[in-house]
Parts: sequence; C-alpha cells; structure tokens
Amino acid sequence: MGGGLNNALWVCYRKETSHLLELFCSKKIEKIETQILTPSGGWLQYTPETPIEDDEWQRAEVTHPFDPKLHEQVVERFRKVIHATPQNLPDREYGPKLICEKCDGNGFYVTEKRQIKKPCTACGETGKILEPRLGFPCTTCRFKKHCWPQAKLQFDGRKPVWVVPREIAEETLVIHPHEYTNGQEVGASTQMPLPTNEQPDDVELF
Ligand SMILES: [Zn+2]
Repeated sequence: MGGGLNNALWVCYRKETSHLLELFCSKKIEKIETQILTPSGGWLQYTPETPIEDDEWQRAEVTHPFDPKLHEQVVERFRKVIHATPQNLPDREYGPKLICEKCDGNGFYVTEKRQIKKPCTACGETGKILEPRLGFPCTTCRFKKHCWPQAKLQFDGRKPVWVVPREIAEETLVIHPHEYTNGQEVGASTQMPLPTNEQPDDVELF
C-alpha cells in the first residue's frame, strides 16, 4: 500500500480446523465489519460483544480500514524474514508450553462449590508440564526439526506427538506472540526495530 496500492486482500486458512478468513484492507473502508458464514449456509454480521464458538462458523469476511501502524508491522516482519540467515534467525514464536494449564502452575486447584483445595493430578502437583510437547502450529510445520532438533516423535495411540526434553524447552526462548511468554523475559532487543541500512534489500518490498 506504501507504493500506491490502495487495496490488499489476505486469505487466512486455519490448518487445524479449516476455518477460512478473508481480510480486505483498503483506504476506502471506514470501519471494521465482519460477516460470517454459518454451517447452515446463512451469513451473519459478527460483533465482538457476542462471541461465537468454532463450530458456529466456517468462513468469515472482514473489511478493515487502512492502518499505518499495522502496515508498518507487516513491513517490519517481512524485513525480519528477508534479513534472517541460518545463523541468525528470529526468535521462535511458538513452542512447547511449560506451565500446567489445569492448575495454572499452582499444583492444586480449588473446587467451585465447597472451595476445597485439591491436588492437581495432571501435573503430579508440580504445576509444570513434565513432558513438554509441540502444539499447534509447530505440529503442522515442516520446519519443526529445524527449530526443535531435539524433539522426539512418539505415538499417543495412533496420534503422533513431538516431545521436547524439558531442559531444552526451558532454556529456549519462545515469544508466544498471542499468549504469555515461556516464563522468560523477552529482551528489549527483540522489540527494537531492525536496522534497515546494514544490508541492502535484495527484494523490493513495496
Ligand atoms: Zn497441574
């Protein structure tokens, strides 16, 4: 859009559920609007005030005004990828979780009715995930062996699971951009804009 383009369309596909979303971004659009296609075949106007479950929609079309800040983030992300080398890759964004989600890392939970403290059996009262596993989207990514060379393929019945040794998962920084961090502080260096003049751009972005 920086180079005179006025419209952009992103097609997003969620691999693990097959949800499809079209995001249309344009300087001609004034407000965010979301139309969703329901399993019965009807289109609905979606509002954040009435959230819907995954099985209540199949496809969505979102219109979004041009957002210079978002645009800058996208350009920055492209630059980061283009300037990456095998020796100097961006931080991992996804990886195994280390904290037990059943008890929020407490090792126990409190029952709703009588407020009794009960030990968490999921983590053996440790609050930790003892056998960290790769989750989505790592499970569907063909570069998982590159990011997590120590991950071992095991089978949970017929389901393949990738188990990462806990000490490796603990010492590897994972940003988890859509969640909490891996219990480590994300350094200021990862937040800083990349120097843009150190290397010439091989690819012209816009
Ligand atoms: Zn637990």
